[in-house]
Amino acid sequence: MISYRVSLHNPEAHLFRVSLWIPQPKVAGQIINMPAWIPGSYMIRDFAKSVVTLNASSNGKPVQFKKLDKQRWQFAPVDDGLEIEYEVYAWDLSVRSAHLDTTHGYFNGTSLFFRVEGLSSESCKVEMQRPEGASYNSWQLATTLPVSNCREDGFGEYQAESYEQLIDHPVEIGDFTRGQFEVANTLHKLVISGRHRSDMTRIEKDLGRICKTHIEMFGELPAMDQYLFQVMAVGDGYGGLEHCNSTSLVCKRDDLPYQNQQEMSDGYRQFLGLCSHEYFHLWNVKRIKPEVYRTAELSQEVYTSLLWAFEGITSYYDDLALVRSGVIDEKSYLELLAQTISRVIKGSGRHKQTVSESSFDTWTKFYKQDENAPNAIVSYYAKGALVALALDLTIRKRTGSKCSLDDVMCILWQRFGVTGKGVGERDIEQIACEVAGADMGGFFDLALRSTDDLPLESLLSDMGVVYKQQPASSPKDRGGFADTEQAEKLPGVALGAAFKSDEGGVRLTFVYDDGAAQRSGLASGDLLVAIDGLRANSDNIESLLNCYSVGERLQVTAFRRDELMTFTLAAQRAPADTCYLALSDDQNAARQRCGWLKTASDD
Ligand code: ZN
Repeated sequence: MISYRVSLHNPEAHLFRVSLWIPQPKVAGQIINMPAWIPGSYMIRDFAKSVVTLNASSNGKPVQFKKLDKQRWQFAPVDDGLEIEYEVYAWDLSVRSAHLDTTHGYFNGTSLFFRVEGLSSESCKVEMQRPEGASYNSWQLATTLPVSNCREDGFGEYQAESYEQLIDHPVEIGDFTRGQFEVANTLHKLVISGRHRSDMTRIEKDLGRICKTHIEMFGELPAMDQYLFQVMAVGDGYGGLEHCNSTSLVCKRDDLPYQNQQEMSDGYRQFLGLCSHEYFHLWNVKRIKPEVYRTAELSQEVYTSLLWAFEGITSYYDDLALVRSGVIDEKSYLELLAQTISRVIKGSGRHKQTVSESSFDTWTKFYKQDENAPNAIVSYYAKGALVALALDLTIRKRTGSKCSLDDVMCILWQRFGVTGKGVGERDIEQIACEVAGADMGGFFDLALRSTDDLPLESLLSDMGVVYKQQPASSPKDRGGFADTEQAEKLPGVALGAAFKSDEGGVRLTFVYDDGAAQRSGLASGDLLVAIDGLRANSDNIESLLNCYSVGERLQVTAFRRDELMTFTLAAQRAPADTCYLALSDDQNAARQRCGWLKTASDD
């Protein structure tokens, strides 16, 4: 049996030391490789670049080896077992790789474990060594890797059925806070690392309700001994990655609820949405997965046009489960939905790239976004979530509310998740047609293979939701829920660019197609310092602009690199690119909405 031993060898230098033992290496000379990417994050990251030293021996004698390419090593043939010792530099505090210092250790198997070519379907053993020294006395280890022989604190021996399983259980080591709750007779654990003072009881209660909502929709929780939410709380950060029995998350510590905090802050709502998203992935992508992911070797890019479904449908249900579980109310949900719609309609890239193309090109476009991204691409997360919404409401409409996207997901779970069969490129469309009892070809051609906008206004009106598109009232306006009595704000003058405060001015981060900034010649990265001779900053830029009438000309002074330049900009009305959702008084539609959001009906 192949075995790995992990030691937190030198936390000060951020080095893990791994020892890999191969009892029966290939006769012709064993080859090992390190993954180029981690499932769930579609970018080539070349984890082998963090291997700092590597030595091999057999029977106490050194073994020669050569590097075949950026991620593969080949060892000379040996008569006995082969032992490979290597150090991995770990200084990326994200959910995608590994991090080690004197406060904690975290790693994904894709960053630490070599794949032994030809033997990767064999079971393996992992020994996690406790770091030595009094300062590590309180450290514990949390992972969902199957235990073979462990101490109470989590250090000891683990096992995995295959390499694929080995790399799907990230490991957190340190002095973390623990919480737990039970759903569907399964223990759900929560560990939070990093400095924080959050209300663990409230988080446990809210997560329990959200998990229960997802389980009830699919009818069952996939078989597992336990589930683990692994959270890293930091000053500023956001992200999550799904695994077969766990998830790793990074969040702002301020997003977690403090003791005695009563209200639902925007940050906490976002944190719960992220947890909900990763938990939904337990079914959608970890078990219901594209055919091409089933045999993925992780050595190079793998292409599918289905990320709109695996990320977009997941993004639709993440917030939907918050309202269905009662963690947030209907208005709060519609606010989130309006913000997702606004994110999509603010970028003209949605008219240049379809969600299918966005999925396919994720490796070079979505994951490698530059300053032109809003003008060039569409997010398969945000637009994918709107496709899921439109699909759900269309199925409800065609079946008189007898069926919905929930039924499509349940069939996907039964046919693909339970059986382990891979999802083909058109399987989801076919199941949707089955559930709707109608040909949905036109819907999918529009939603997935065209760049036209979705008919959300009419679909939402069937649910008693009024859709409004209006100019942003300020650069911070992201859209939301509109009370019916709320007066529509007058549109201001727009710069046609996104910006942030920087070095005594405003730094342009995105310059939108056909906006005033682009037409004047301003570019992303320019530092705008004055408008008609008056100093501009992120606090006053809006009031400075609003002194002008549409069509008037103004002189903008900006630095491009270290060169001071002047641009003539024509004041332009802010575009109607911000979505607000309100409730109509249609009682019949309100009943439909209660069925959709699973909120209690008023009557
Ligand atoms: Zn996701």
